[in-house]
Amino acid sequence: MDQSRRDLLKMGASAMGGALMGVQFDAAAQGTRAVATEHVKAVAPLAGKVALRFATCQFKENAAARIGIVLDDGRVIDVEAEAKRQGVSLAFAADSMISLLACGDKGLAQAKALADKAVARKSRLMTVSQVKLLSPVPKPERNIYCVGWNYLEHFEEGRDARADKGVSKLPDNPVFFTKATHTMNGPFAAIPYDPSFTATADWEAELAVVIGRRGRNIAEENAMDYVFGYAAFNDTTVREVQQKRHGGQWFKGKSLDGYGPMGPWIVTAAGVTLDDVRIICRVNGVEKQNASYKQMYFKIPRIIAELSRGLTLEPGDIIATGTPPGVGYSRKPPEFLMPGDIMETEITGVGVIRNTIETET
Ligand code: MG
Repeated sequence: MDQSRRDLLKMGASAMGGALMGVQFDAAAQGTRAVATEHVKAVAPLAGKVALRFATCQFKENAAARIGIVLDDGRVIDVEAEAKRQGVSLAFAADSMISLLACGDKGLAQAKALADKAVARKSRLMTVSQVKLLSPVPKPERNIYCVGWNYLEHFEEGRDARADKGVSKLPDNPVFFTKATHTMNGPFAAIPYDPSFTATADWEAELAVVIGRRGRNIAEENAMDYVFGYAAFNDTTVREVQQKRHGGQWFKGKSLDGYGPMGPWIVTAAGVTLDDVRIICRVNGVEKQNASYKQMYFKIPRIIAELSRGLTLEPGDIIATGTPPGVGYSRKPPEFLMPGDIMETEITGVGVIRNTIETET
């Protein structure tokens, strides 16, 4: 990444209005409309001096999805409407996060300028409680890359529960697999439950990396230049299908429709201090997982370097970096997600997603 892009990603948030930090939301008190996402309870302050939160939103019921910029005070800028208001011709398609990501520095600079001006001229904006948040990348163009066994304690906890007893030693290189694109699900959307097939559905809170630049054979020392930002992700998995039903492969048990909720937005890289990040999962309010990025075995630069060897990463690619200890199947006795359960995935400093398990009708 050249210096100007680094500078851009590190731009201060002061121009964002020095706004209220860590604003709490009460959807009812906000006069929520039918379209509202009632689940955003707070907007966590961004680390250090940066950055932007990019969401994919429906600003009206059943409206087409568009990019929104979520401000510190919980208001959301409709990028397309604001560009029109300011007479700006956008270099990216305002209805496509991937288009913004692929636009590189120019798109980021435009979005930043647009946001600053919207704040300065006191544009009338909706709050995050009044829009519907979709996955920030609602339709990934490629499978979601995932890292397996990336926390020592998670590897150890699975030792007894794993079907494949032959795996006893931590891998020398990251374990990769993918989830199909149709697993992508909204930050507050339901996860389908079929009692005849998904009785062993399990949670896996993960930090998702969103790639912002094309690259192949990326050196570890340059890898972070390819990171656009981060989001919360849950690599929701049906264990029986993952481990036994189809010969021990992981793909099917991790690729059921909607089994990859993500969001609530992407925080650009400079807005996140990785060493301060915690990866947390709660089920019905009970904490099941809570670990630090520091416990991650293969850190993000190594993951990107290994994954990009002979494999071109593209803007909009998503890498789920592995889950910490505390998953359901290795508990004694094992625990699984049931209809009506609320699965909450939090990446501190980024945001919280909350998905309800719902029986398919
Ligand atoms: Mg996982």
